[in-house]
Amino acid sequence: MTNQALHVLKEVFGYDQFRAPQGDVIHSVLGGQDVLVIMPTGGGKSLCYQLPSLLRSGTGIVVSPLIALMQDQVAALSQLGIRSACLNSSLDSVIQTEVEQALINGQLDVLYIAPERLMQPRTLALLQQAEISLFAIDEAHCVSQWGHDFRPEYLKLAALGASFPGVPRIALTATADPRTQQEIVSRLGLVDAHIYVQGFDRPNIRYRIAQKNRAREQLLQFIKTEHPRDAGVVYCLSRKRVEETSAWLADQGFNALPYHAGLSNELRQHNQHRFLTEESVIMVATVAFGMGIDKPNVRFVAHLDLPRSIEAYYQETGRAGRDGLPANAWMVYGLQDVIFLRQMLEGSQAPEQFKQVERQKLEAMLGFCEITTCRRQVLLSYFGEDDHEPCGNCDTCLEPVAQWDGTEAARQALSAVYRTGQRFGVNHVVDVLMGKRTDKVVSEGHDKVSTWGIGQSLNKAQWRSVFRQLVGRGLLRVDPDGYGVLHLADMCRPILKGEASLMLREDIKPAKTGQSKSRV
Ligand code: ADP
Ligand code: ZN
Repeated sequence: MTNQALHVLKEVFGYDQFRAPQGDVIHSVLGGQDVLVIMPTGGGKSLCYQLPSLLRSGTGIVVSPLIALMQDQVAALSQLGIRSACLNSSLDSVIQTEVEQALINGQLDVLYIAPERLMQPRTLALLQQAEISLFAIDEAHCVSQWGHDFRPEYLKLAALGASFPGVPRIALTATADPRTQQEIVSRLGLVDAHIYVQGFDRPNIRYRIAQKNRAREQLLQFIKTEHPRDAGVVYCLSRKRVEETSAWLADQGFNALPYHAGLSNELRQHNQHRFLTEESVIMVATVAFGMGIDKPNVRFVAHLDLPRSIEAYYQETGRAGRDGLPANAWMVYGLQDVIFLRQMLEGSQAPEQFKQVERQKLEAMLGFCEITTCRRQVLLSYFGEDDHEPCGNCDTCLEPVAQWDGTEAARQALSAVYRTGQRFGVNHVVDVLMGKRTDKVVSEGHDKVSTWGIGQSLNKAQWRSVFRQLVGRGLLRVDPDGYGVLHLADMCRPILKGEASLMLREDIKPAKTGQSKSRV
């Protein structure tokens, strides 16, 4: 069986060997086994179902949410002489009938279908008349309700097992931590599924996270010095910021194009096409851009805003360097990001259970930003890989982070929040700490509180860094109301009481404070 698979690999696909774990996956599927495959983007997931579709008799049905990509896949397969087609809402009825007939007549090796289409009674009845070799469920993480891309129609796919007994199902995704893996298996009702996880490490990607001060200037500096003529993606959280940033980069002479869900279909297609076909286009985009984009030579992915979770960060940065050559994942983040994301989360109407999961994910993401050890180690251990050495190819490895004993500063910051009644945002509290007599400080009588002026050894930027880390670590909470009002969190008690100490990242060197510093 394996010999036959190798033969097809060579003759049809033109490759000499399998990449791990393709060979094992294909062996399982050929044996009729359900499997879950987790491989990073660009790892070679498609082959895991395309090849068995050729070797098993009948048609392989591929469930994919990305209608735009189906056409590309079909075109690529035709080039290889593989008989394939797709069924989706964009087809006219004549072609649709042709495809259906070809399926029934056993003239298709691979058929792509959108999930909502597949589960329509009409389509299911059609499939019952055909011989099906396997079901491949692409982007299987879409079944996870707590994941970053839940699609309700994916839940219905669980019914495939009962409707088509004996037809192996292969679920594929690029991102799933161990918990999500279990969730995919149970929600899709995969039977005794073998789970194949290919390493998550992308050693050619260099991870860097810098302190945000003037994001656009920092971005420009980064692109100018490191990627003046390269293709890259710049991720922003809002459409407005996408527009502004791409216009601005274009003004600076770069081939920058915007991409977000608010643009017309044509413009999105057009920009995407230019990104894929031209050499040095910089796509400035929201997260709407990227799923399934296969451009091997993206040299950098830049984040101007903090992603919501480590999974999102991993997936977005993973679009860089798919050709295996050095690539950069670069991000700036600051206090405002932390406050903003916390507010969005707390202010959302989502059910509490959902918020709880999101909170943990954001927590993990913030923790990832603030760590002082190897970023890759933390990233990979988040996906269950605990056995990596420090990588030597991330900012914290390349330039060890200085830390300082922020216990006293933290205590001052926390008591200033407390003394001013937990009714104010960072700026006001910092004014109080620094002993300013602004109108607001005076009118609130905050120049009379015991914490007024106790924090003069740090400057404003340093205080913002302290507050960012306090919020980031969950020692201070931010009100969801939009004003950024700070509250003490229970966790901060040991520090206030002097029972715990706190080491902080040194973003900007604290000036002459006499604080002890240590390099790690
Ligand atoms: P994924 O779906 O995991 O993102 P793809 O299936 O699109 O990845 O494959 C990524 C690239 O790797 C494609 O260009 C594909 O042709 C190539 N590829 C896949 N398997 C092999 C292999 N065994 N040897 C060499 N190249 C491969
Ligand atoms: Zn490292």
